[in-house]
Amino acid sequence: MTDSFSDLGAADPTTEPFWQACAEHRLTVQRCTACGNSQLYPRPFCLACESDALGWVEASGGGIIYSLTTVRLPVIDELKPPYYLALVDLDEGPRLLTNIVSDKASIGDRVGVEWRARDGLPPLPVFRTT
Ligand SMILES: [Zn+2]
Repeated sequence: MTDSFSDLGAADPTTEPFWQACAEHRLTVQRCTACGNSQLYPRPFCLACESDALGWVEASGGGIIYSLTTVRLPVIDELKPPYYLALVDLDEGPRLLTNIVSDKASIGDRVGVEWRARDGLPPLPVFRTT
């Protein structure tokens, strides 16, 4: 048992709060306390104003599929093709590259977050049409 995902090589100081929240099945995004911009994936500074005054807010877990493709070739062991790879616009603003676990999905569909368990790593946020 470990207290930190850093022990597993799964995180760095910038991303560790994100993965710790994932371990509790909470999807979080970085929010700049200087300008209010939200961003994901985590970075050490704000993409809008370059401030390093960043905090974390919990996302609703909802979003809309911005773009979608079907992967038909095996790429990684944990995902057996065919499967959907998508860009999801979270309700909080950031656009997330993710996996859609529904049997059918289309651009513009509403989705909600679910969690894929992984051996020795924090759960991964994936999405299902709602
Ligand atoms: Zn900012």
